[in-house]
Amino acid sequence: MRLRTLALAVVGAACGPAVPPSEPPAAPPTPAPIAATATPPASAATPSQPAPPADETLEQRAKRLHAEAIVVDTHNDIPTVLYASGIDLANPDKRPVHTDLAKMKAGGITAEFFSIYVDASYWEKPTSLGGGAARHALDLIDVTHRQIERHPDALVLATSAADIRAAKKDGKVAVLMGIEGGHAIENSLSALRSFHRLGVRYMTLTHTNTNDWADSAGFSGPPDARHKGLSSFGEDVVREMQRIGMLVDVSHVSDDTFWGVMREAKAPVIASHSSARALTDHRRNLADDMLVALAKNGGVAMINFWALLVDAKYAARAGRFFLAHRGELQKLRGKLHDDVFGFREALDRMKASEAEPFARPPLARLVDHIDHVAKVAGVDHVGLGSDFDGVDTLPEGIDGVDGLPKITEELVRRGRSDAEVLKILGGNFMRAFEGAEAYARASKTTLSGDGNARKLEAKDVPPPSKGAHAKGAPGPTPKGTGPKGAR
Ligand SMILES: [Zn+2]
Repeated sequence: MRLRTLALAVVGAACGPAVPPSEPPAAPPTPAPIAATATPPASAATPSQPAPPADETLEQRAKRLHAEAIVVDTHNDIPTVLYASGIDLANPDKRPVHTDLAKMKAGGITAEFFSIYVDASYWEKPTSLGGGAARHALDLIDVTHRQIERHPDALVLATSAADIRAAKKDGKVAVLMGIEGGHAIENSLSALRSFHRLGVRYMTLTHTNTNDWADSAGFSGPPDARHKGLSSFGEDVVREMQRIGMLVDVSHVSDDTFWGVMREAKAPVIASHSSARALTDHRRNLADDMLVALAKNGGVAMINFWALLVDAKYAARAGRFFLAHRGELQKLRGKLHDDVFGFREALDRMKASEAEPFARPPLARLVDHIDHVAKVAGVDHVGLGSDFDGVDTLPEGIDGVDGLPKITEELVRRGRSDAEVLKILGGNFMRAFEGAEAYARASKTTLSGDGNARKLEAKDVPPPSKGAHAKGAPGPTPKGTGPKGAR
């Protein structure tokens, strides 16, 4: 499944339909009272830092700031790699992973969101093949807990902003979990609440597939816009998530779904791994009017590092490659089905043998996206959502979690103030997370007893929209690249 999606997604990125036009709501999005009133200061600095030396060099300043910061990455697909390969974070056995214990230490990461990524195919998989969607989410949650329990000196489970701050103090990496793909709850608000109990603190409403209550942006081919955004049940999902303090994540959703979320949201919303559409014209990225709306909501756009989403030139090159080798790649995927690393290695060999170079974009391209969001939405509304271990190509100089300090250096080089750097590295996310927690607390309701018990009925699920893939709910929509498959 990964193999197919790897090829298709990259083709789709460069050669799929043009980015659909944004459809802003008739009325401007309602500003979220919680975001406006309950958000704590954005500074992520730990208190009582010594004053910096007067003759501090640029490199020294970057190093100091990175060590001082609460560094948060909101999207990392390592659980899928761990699940498929059986490797351990302490010993990746020389495998080409972006994430392991040593890299996390070297990267100075404070909080890493492990992605509980549920491929659309799990919607229909029989138990004997690892399905369904909720079951796969449970499997990846267990993989994550296993790693935390095996490495108590390095990792700690975190389910709140306070847990992240405590981990920083203790010198451990806070591991959080976010579900990728709203079909994981199998249309059950009870399942949503149970995932919260297990520690899940955000959920992308869709992956590349439209589900029974929210439209996806898709990836290649015509998107399935059967709900024209968020359905009535989808609105209930958003409300229930915010009531229980689970962040609503708009990465992967269609523009109409995004605007539906903005209308419903009363607490800050995040895009856990999306970049700026104005710089890389792709429907997985956020348009400027969406960035402005996210800022009004008090939310944060966490920038995706994937070369294909940050560099238009790379996306076009990758598109040509995958179109030219479509047949060959299909054969390869048949042969290396579920071999996370085997396919990656074969793909790298194919790319290396190309006459036309396959140049990684410079790190500057990634930081351009941070600057753009800061310019359009404000410096309080941008952060980092790498997509490590879910993508095949990262910008030059970033080969994994250990490359994060390079971003800090570039931010300093570009003249960002200390306070701005701390916000971008994690302070902004902390503010949004704490805002969502404050909203949930203010509801003064119990997790389950006061929970929404609505059941989604068949009559509420329209057929796929014309031209879209005719399969049922998530259907076999293409995924992305890399070991996991999709951005
Ligand atoms: Zn993704």
